[in-house]
Parts: sequence; C-alpha cells; structure tokens
Amino acid sequence: MTKYNILIVGAGPVGSVIAEQCASQLNWKVQLIDKRPHIAGNCYDRFHESGVLIHQYGPHYFRTNKASLLEYLSQFTEWIPGNYIVTSNTRGEHFPFPINLDTLAQFFKLDHIDEEKAKQLLEEKREKIETPKNSEEFVLSRVGKELYEAFYLGYTLKQWDMHPKDLAPSVCGRIPIRFNQDNRYVDHEFQFTPKDGFSKMFEKMISHPLIDLQLNTDFKQIKEKPPIIVYSGAIDEYFDFQYGKLGWRSLSFDFQVKNEEYYQKNVQINYPNEHKYTRSVEIKHVTGQKHPQTVISYEYPKATGDPYYPIPTTENHEKYLKYKKLADEETTQNHVYFCGRLAEYKYFNMDEVMENAFRTFKVLKSKYGNQ
Ligand code: UDP
Repeated sequence: MTKYNILIVGAGPVGSVIAEQCASQLNWKVQLIDKRPHIAGNCYDRFHESGVLIHQYGPHYFRTNKASLLEYLSQFTEWIPGNYIVTSNTRGEHFPFPINLDTLAQFFKLDHIDEEKAKQLLEEKREKIETPKNSEEFVLSRVGKELYEAFYLGYTLKQWDMHPKDLAPSVCGRIPIRFNQDNRYVDHEFQFTPKDGFSKMFEKMISHPLIDLQLNTDFKQIKEKPPIIVYSGAIDEYFDFQYGKLGWRSLSFDFQVKNEEYYQKNVQINYPNEHKYTRSVEIKHVTGQKHPQTVISYEYPKATGDPYYPIPTTENHEKYLKYKKLADEETTQNHVYFCGRLAEYKYFNMDEVMENAFRTFKVLKSKYGNQ
C-alpha cells in the first residue's frame, strides 16, 4: 500500500499549487512527480553557464487581474516590476508592438495621432467582418490588410506553420490593439516577476514537509498508485494516443552569449518576416540581473519535440473532445483529475492554469477533504 493520499503528475504551476494546497490545507501526504530533472514546468529558469539567469523554455512573465492570486504567490516570493516591452521588426524598422498610437504614427508616417484619429483611420482600413471566424478575419476586421501583412501574417505562418485563416480567432486575439500609448505587452492589472526567479518561487511553494518530490519519474513507472491522482501532462499521452496524436506546436531555443551588458533595447523583438526565428528574447531586461554579459534566446518553432502549444484547429478540437470524454469517465471511476494546458488542451496562461488548479483543489477538498 502506498503511503500517499494523492499522486500529482507534473511539478509545473498546476502541480505545485495543488501539491501545496493539499499539504497545507488538508494535511495530505503528497507524491509529486515530474519526468523532467527539474521543477517549475516550462516556467523553469536557471543560470546559464555564463552566469546569466535565463528562461529555459521561453519567456514567462506573471500577469493577473486577481489580487487574491498575487497575494497567494507572495507567500513564496518577493516581486519586481514585470514590465514586458516588445517591439516588432518589420519593413526594416522597429515598431512598438502590440499596435498602439505610436505604432500607427510610425507605420503611416503621421506627425501626430490621437485616439479619435486612430479610430477613424482604422475604421477606414479595417474590413467589415462582423463575426470573424479565424485569426486572419479577426485581425483584418480590427486593423485591415496593411497592418495584418506587416505584423501578423509572417509571424503566424512561422509560429504555427499554418495560415492565420486556419487558426481560431483567439490565437491572434491574444494580442491587444490599443488606442493609447501603453507599450506593455498585455493589459493585466498586476504584472510582476518573482525577484529570485520562477524556479525559486516554485521551490519554496513545494518545500512543505508533506510533499515528496520525485524528479526524473514517469507516471507509467508508478506501480502503487494513491487513491487520488491529478494529472497535468498531455491528455493524449495519458490515454496511449488511442484516438491518435493531438497536434502540438513545439519550440527550440538557441541561447547566445553576448559580451556586453545589454544587447537589445527591450526584452523581446518579434520578427514577422526576416529570419527563421520568430523572436529574440533578452530576459535580463525583466530579471534585472546585474552582469557584464547577457544572453539572447532565439526561438525557432517546430513540429516535433516537447508539447508547448495546443494547435486550435477544428480537427484537434474534435479529437480533444473524444479524449475529454474518456477523461471525465476516468475522473468518475478512478478519481483522476485532469488540469492544465497539456491536460485540457487549451492555450492557457500561467495565471489561468493556477486558477484552474485552485478550482480542481476545491473539488478535491469537497469530495475527499474529510478522509
Ligand atoms: N502574433 C503575431 N505577430 C506577433 C506576435 C504574435 O502574428 O508579432 C500572433 C501569433 O499567431 C502568435 C499569437 O499572435 O502565436 C499569440 O502571440 P503571443 O505573443 O501571445 O504568443 P506566446 O507568447 O504565447 O508564444
């Protein structure tokens, strides 16, 4: 018989929150496993050989509109501001991105533009599509063809190896379009970075004595399973791909050391057209680390490798619904709960998966809390 009350598969944001809650709120003995050699999932950051702190799996910045979530995480970290500034390199120039008033002025070579003029301009440019059915229609209906072709089309083709016509509106819809001069990447009320990094924050979160962390451990290796399981891995893998593989987009990263304190003007530069990579990221702008060198990460999208992004096509969605049906049966019959970007096959952000983790924990507490 296992000594654990619960097995949690995956020590990323979902697994860490649920493990911490089960231990601190229910006094459960938690077996937390991850097949990778480290915690924190794709939020994992570490010191590069040069000594520069890098985000191993692409840039992560914490944002939320929920004060309660920020307060919860503040038990495990102090924060520094998370201002995340992106520019887009297109047509030989760097533009503020997401599109804002400054982008419009620069792009259309206008001396001055205010909110009213910008709305008028985009009203002339935009295509009158009432209910956009895909990402192309979404962007065309907001900003029109010139801006779509300059900022979105090439980037999206590279990122997904698919035409924006074939992707749900929500993909390009993640990016705001602004009628002010706000140049932050996202709109959320709270935008912060853990002062000592994400790995440290998650390390503290799961340092509870009732949590046993087992790295380099695959779910299939666990022979004696506790009565309750939370699974945050890929849902198709859990069911041995019986309905076929779900589409996942992956990435590879080329980290390059530069012998200067800063190499880029801002943390992220997007490249809709030139180059095979989609973006170059100098996370030092956000971590605020003092170091004479810096590291730039170039991101290359690819079809194989670790799953990063669910690909939101109708075919994948239908396949996912079949897996979801199996997952629901598994929950009812065997007390296995599926939570997170990989398990729910949805392009969630970090704050969203953490909220889902709290929701899952609430269910666990109400169903089994008195055991
Ligand atoms: N996108 C784009 N141009 C850009 C940045 C993003 O067309 O300069 C599109 C692209 O399809 C991308 C989506 O918007 O996949 C969401 O971008 P986001 O930056 O949120 O992606 P993430 O940081 O999650 O990789």
